[in-house]
Amino acid sequence: MEFFDSHAHLNLPEFGPDRSEALARARAAGVTRITNVGVDAASSRLARDLARDEAGLLASAALHPNYAADLGEPEWVCVAALLREGGFAAVGETGLDYYRDHAPPELQQDLFRRHLALAEELSLPVIVHCRNAHADCRAVLAEEMPRRNLADRVVLHCFSGTGEDARAYLALGALLSFTGVLTFPNAHSARAVAAGVPLARTLAETDCPWLAPQARRGKRNEPAYVTHAVGALAGLHGVSVEEAARITTENAVRFFAPGEQT
Ligand SMILES: [Zn+2]
Repeated sequence: MEFFDSHAHLNLPEFGPDRSEALARARAAGVTRITNVGVDAASSRLARDLARDEAGLLASAALHPNYAADLGEPEWVCVAALLREGGFAAVGETGLDYYRDHAPPELQQDLFRRHLALAEELSLPVIVHCRNAHADCRAVLAEEMPRRNLADRVVLHCFSGTGEDARAYLALGALLSFTGVLTFPNAHSARAVAAGVPLARTLAETDCPWLAPQARRGKRNEPAYVTHAVGALAGLHGVSVEEAARITTENAVRFFAPGEQT
């Protein structure tokens, strides 16, 4: 059985001391591919270095909306330059975050649109972060995805929207990605939303070091535990874990590395 953690942060300081051990545990669990996601220039560069050094690791680069105001224009220039150098499988995580009130919405939307334009220019898929901002996120994507040829090339990571949001994103041609949050006892609505998304349009992720699944709740999360998200998806869709692992892995390979065979 093979798993693909479509959204991890082995490139953040939480994994500084024992990154290679975490990677070894992931491989032992059957997690053969991991996309490490950048949130600023330094973490994006490290994600790319890791992808060069280790088999099965992919990298993405972006300036996260939470840092749009603090780091601002000079950081965006660095991130855009890194992406143009190459070595990345995706642009992200970009998007809108109105939960943490770190940057004005107009600034976040402008930066989001610039990431989408660069993704079109570089023919890369996009990892979208959206928290408490689905109305504006849907509006931006409804405008940008058709004109930038991004159908099948956008994933809403750690999806937290409603069933109606999910249907709107699916209609635009986006994929949705789910974490170990699905294993939390009180996550009834998240499970109902995930059950309504076809497995063919679903990715699995950890978003580690955050959001450890119920069995590890309160501890640091890591890519090995993507098996918990896949197990939850299998249960929701009434298929075996093997089947859910195969489908979510194939989806992620097609999304991040369309030239590669599974
Ligand atoms: Zn993330």
